[in-house]
Amino acid sequence: MTNLVWFRRDLRVYDNPALYYACQNRNESVIACYLITLDFWRQHDEAKCKIAFWLKNLQSLKVELEKLNIPLLVLSVTEKNLLSHFKKILQQYKITKLHFNTLLEPNERERDKAVVTLCKKLMVKVGRYQQSCILAPGSVTKNDGSAYSMFTPFKNKWLSLLSSDDYACLSKPKARYSTVKLSSTNLLQKFLQQYKKYDLSQWGVGEKLAQQKLRYFIRNRIGDYAKARDFPALTGTSQLSPYLTAGILSVKQCLAAAKQLPQNKGVQTWISELIWRDFYQHILYFFPRVGKNCAFRLETEKLVWRKNDVYFKAWCTGQTGIPIVDAAMRQLLQTGWMHNRLRMVVAMFFTKNLFLDWRQGEQYFMQHLIDGDLAANNGGWQWSASTGTDAAPYFRIFNPYRQSERFDPEGCFIQQYCSELKELDQRQIHQPPKLKNYPKPLVDVELTRKQAIDKFKKVLKR
Ligand code: FAD
Repeated sequence: MTNLVWFRRDLRVYDNPALYYACQNRNESVIACYLITLDFWRQHDEAKCKIAFWLKNLQSLKVELEKLNIPLLVLSVTEKNLLSHFKKILQQYKITKLHFNTLLEPNERERDKAVVTLCKKLMVKVGRYQQSCILAPGSVTKNDGSAYSMFTPFKNKWLSLLSSDDYACLSKPKARYSTVKLSSTNLLQKFLQQYKKYDLSQWGVGEKLAQQKLRYFIRNRIGDYAKARDFPALTGTSQLSPYLTAGILSVKQCLAAAKQLPQNKGVQTWISELIWRDFYQHILYFFPRVGKNCAFRLETEKLVWRKNDVYFKAWCTGQTGIPIVDAAMRQLLQTGWMHNRLRMVVAMFFTKNLFLDWRQGEQYFMQHLIDGDLAANNGGWQWSASTGTDAAPYFRIFNPYRQSERFDPEGCFIQQYCSELKELDQRQIHQPPKLKNYPKPLVDVELTRKQAIDKFKKVLKR
């Protein structure tokens, strides 16, 4: 009897249901596989820094699996030949049961269905496990079984349903008695070489390190989270999103760690963010159209967004002349990550002041974020564009200058990324005077705010 564990965005040995259940019977063999699907990743705009991060962590996972006597098979496949490769693996290693953790994105769901059908044909059993969310998609619904589209009632129901079993984490499996021999390839090394120019030093690699980061946040930072989380110059948030997206940590592990503490404001606020994460995943599960470039609020599809390459390019490169927006966009380019407050500020500026299509911004984020996640990214963009679930009302538009004064009062964050503004004091830095080496504002934020409100009013009235 040989079990196969198919790893994807669950690159860990602790609290990994697919791995855990594959290892239940110590007399059975276990092998693992990971399929590098570059064309699929490209099609989904997965950022190169994120792929590099995945591959580095895959290498670390391989070492951990070897300690358990579980060999990892790494293959490079295309979307088209994925099934034939799967078939070969199932037949070559005489697999009796395939185990994998499910994914919620529409194309991934389609692909998983096809793999399950193949297994059925070949009489291979399948174990599918939910680990993307704390509470399984479909389990938090209104009394009539329909999905929530507002966060607060979703959160209240979620909290009422949660029991300690929901965040009881699985242990690491024990080492197998013997290992299956795989023909060795240096494919992973080849891909690592290809992606080595992406600097991941800020992040660090591996499950142990991710767990240390979680412990550090829980011990030292979560208490201040409610106050500090909005200030990009502080390290007020956990910065765990890349590890959660790649599944190096599970979201249950995060909740379990937070639940060990007295439930003060900081802890509750952080848990609330984990619930936002679940919320957007559940939305994607119930409304797959949001993952296919479609607005959640269908009536907003009538908005005619502006097409303007000059605006788009200035926004992408951090040259809009609005310091907080530029600093944020440069943070994204330099680190692959952006602070949550700033994601909201730049997305709101993009959709309301520049009136560019949220889909274009969503795509750009996906192409650059190390934590790019379809559900959360789409949720955030549609919230900012007022096209989504529980979205910001279209008439409540952030003023980027006020956001800057409020959340980066001394301009420390701006100065970190906009060296040309280093000499300005805190009265000038948010809205600089004319400078030789810094662009003037791309648009008048007050005027464009009013124009956006008018455009929304016209469409939503019709
Ligand atoms: P913390 O504040 O420490 O929160 C802990 C975890 O909770 C995060 O790691 C994340 O998994 C989850 N979380 C927090 N806030 C949210 C939220 N609003 N929605 C969903 N999950 C949340 N998050 C992503 O993980 N991937 C994305 O691609 C992504 N794109 C976004 C795009 C926009 C326009 C906006 C407004 C938000 C986006 N977010 C995204 C949500 C949020 O900005 C990040 O999760 C957060 O900044 C990650 O930093 P952290 O780990 O320090 O978060």
